[in-house]
Amino acid sequence: MSTTTGQVIRCKAAVAWEAGKPLVIEEVEVAPPQKMEVRIKILFTSLCHTDVYFWEAKGQNPVFPRILGHEAGGVVESVGEGVTDLQPGDHVLPVFTGECKECAHCKSEESNMCDLLRINTDRGVMLHDQKSRFSINGKPIFHFVGTSTFSEYTVVHVGCLAKINPLAPLDKVCVLSCGISTGLGATLNVAKPKKGSSVAVFGLGAVGLAAAEGARISGASRIIGVDLNANRFELAKKFGVTEFVNPKDYKKPVQEVIAEMTNGGVDRSVECTGHIDAMISAFECVHDGWGVAVLVGVPHKDAVFKTNPMNLLNERTLKGTFFGNYKPRSDIPSVVEKYMNKELEVEKFITHEVPFSEINKAFDLMLKGEGLQGAATVRILCVCFSSLLFAVLNLDCYPLKILSLRCIIRMDA
Ligand SMILES: [Zn+2]
Ligand SMILES: [Zn+2]
Repeated sequence: MSTTTGQVIRCKAAVAWEAGKPLVIEEVEVAPPQKMEVRIKILFTSLCHTDVYFWEAKGQNPVFPRILGHEAGGVVESVGEGVTDLQPGDHVLPVFTGECKECAHCKSEESNMCDLLRINTDRGVMLHDQKSRFSINGKPIFHFVGTSTFSEYTVVHVGCLAKINPLAPLDKVCVLSCGISTGLGATLNVAKPKKGSSVAVFGLGAVGLAAAEGARISGASRIIGVDLNANRFELAKKFGVTEFVNPKDYKKPVQEVIAEMTNGGVDRSVECTGHIDAMISAFECVHDGWGVAVLVGVPHKDAVFKTNPMNLLNERTLKGTFFGNYKPRSDIPSVVEKYMNKELEVEKFITHEVPFSEINKAFDLMLKGEGLQGAATVRILCVCFSSLLFAVLNLDCYPLKILSLRCIIRMDA
């Protein structure tokens, strides 16, 4: 038992005090884990677009002050009452959605949408007592999606922690707790392309590239990347993409372009942009008789999917997925094993390093990148030697032209 068990831990955390204002590295108090909770020491974390979205708080409930962060890797420091399958020292990946193992969804082999622990972006407290485990001089600081990984220590429900191989390097596999698994699982678990088949991937950001990686692992012989930004194509080759289609280069709908390229349509398609027109194209570009389209990207709340029902009657299948259909506790450890046995390549998603102390720089870069056309996704690995807190920051939409994927931003603490 560590000396901190049952005690309040004081540590550093990046606190979002207000919407859109730079995070402030503060000393916070982290209460001990309560019933079915686990306190973990975060070693690596990442910034995903979802963090920025809720930090900007445009169009949703602002919940502040808050500790953001949901893609991470860490080590169990102590466990609360009732936790039997984790113990101090275990290596874990926190996940923004959970698996209670008791509800109808968890008991179904087909679902990962746990009734108890499904993602809830409005809740800023723990389920057990509706209180926060974080505070500064007694003032509560709210949680984010049950993970709040921009802190040296955090408290997470046991159902949102995947126990992984302790030999797996956390600075690499931490990226498997969100976007990469989402794209990978969409292909491996839902689209399920056969060896030698053709797969179209719409949107070549981190999730789309992970979907392409899934197609590569499945042995697809043709992987067609569809993106409005040609700058992404060179990068996408690393992820197994063999051909590229830029819809802007054609006068006709991209589904027709793909049908012509593939003698009637692709065997599988995976849509990762959330743009409604891309969703329809992704469905209509699959081959009749056997084609399967999988929707991953989250659309605008008012979007309506329109297609002629004949497209379905002609034996095309349309599916959707959440977190790649992975059950966090049951399945994510096996995704880590795919990396360990060299089936899945994770390093190519990680291109940069910055320290935790400069976390705002990552936000700035992401925001600057957003306004520019021709954006790509890169991932920043943050390293803070003094605090032993490592963070991986994902910069969506940063322009490839400016940012080399091999450029390392390394700050000595
Ligand atoms: Zn994410
Ligand atoms: Zn459940």
